[in-house]
Amino acid sequence: MKDSLKKQIIEALKDQKEIFGDELLEGKTLNRRTKVIKNTSGNSLRVKELIPEPVVKPIISVIVPEKIIDEKKGDNLFAAPKTEWETADNLDNLYNLTCNCQKCPLGATRNKFVFGSGNNNADVMVVGEGPGADEDAQGLPFVGRAGKLLTDILKAINFSREEVYIANIVKCRPPANRTPLPQEMDACMPYLKKQIQLIKPKLILCLGLTAAHGLLKNKDSLTNMRGKVFEFENAKIMVTFHPAALLRNPNWKRDCWEDVKKFRKLYDQIVADNG
Ligand code: SF4
Ligand code: URA
Repeated sequence: MKDSLKKQIIEALKDQKEIFGDELLEGKTLNRRTKVIKNTSGNSLRVKELIPEPVVKPIISVIVPEKIIDEKKGDNLFAAPKTEWETADNLDNLYNLTCNCQKCPLGATRNKFVFGSGNNNADVMVVGEGPGADEDAQGLPFVGRAGKLLTDILKAINFSREEVYIANIVKCRPPANRTPLPQEMDACMPYLKKQIQLIKPKLILCLGLTAAHGLLKNKDSLTNMRGKVFEFENAKIMVTFHPAALLRNPNWKRDCWEDVKKFRKLYDQIVADNG
C-alpha cells in the first residue's frame, strides 16, 4: 500500500474516531456503509463508514402533582378553578348563580327552576326526587298532592315545613314525571351538595329510592335501607317512602310512620347530645 494512501486511511480513521468516539474502538456494533471517495489524485477509494445512530430525543416528562395544599386556606392549588356558583357563600347567592342552569336536558323543558325552600339554617333537611307539574308551575318543592301529604307527615312528628329545608335531587321537572336519568342526577347533585354544605343540617330524610340512591350513591333496595342510619358529610341520613308512593299504596303508610318516628327519635337524641 502506498504511503500516501496509508496516510489517507489513517486520517479517515482518526476523523471517524473523532466523530463516533471510542465506540469505534470498543467494538460496538454500529451499522456501516461503504462509501466511494476520491483522493487528491482523482482515484476512487472505497471506505467503510459508520452510520451514526439516530439521535433519540429524551422524552420530557412533566410531573404534575395532584395536590398542593395551600396551608393557610386549605385549598388545593392544583384543583380546577371553581365555577362561580361553587364560590357562593349563602343560599340566595347559590340560587342566583344556578337558576338559569342548562347543564342537563331538563333545563330546556322546565317552566320553573325548583331550588328548594324552608329554613336556611335547618337542622333537618328533606330530600325528594324532582319537581312534578305543580312544583314546575310554582317554582317550589312539594306543593302538589304529595307535598300536602309530606306536610302532614312532618306535622305528625312535630316538624313544621318552615323549620325544615325541603329540596330535590334534580331541580327541573323530568318530562311526564319520569324518574330522572343517572346523567341528570349526576349533573344536578353538586347543587344539592352545596346546599347541604351551606345549610349544615344534622339530619336528612330521603324520600324514596331516587333520593336515597342519589345521596348515598348505592343501588340498595328501600327495604334494606329503611330503619338504618347513614352518614353524609356531617349529617345523618335516614330513608323512607316517597309520599307519592304512599298515595298510590296507602297500606305503606304504617311502615312510613314507623320510619319517621325513628327519625324524630334520632333528631331528639342528637339535639340532647349537643346540649
Ligand atoms: Fe341544571 Fe339540575 Fe336543571 Fe339539569 S336538572 S338543568 S343540572 S338545574
Ligand atoms: N315529588 C318530588 O320528589 N319532589 C317534589 O318537589 C314534588 C313531588
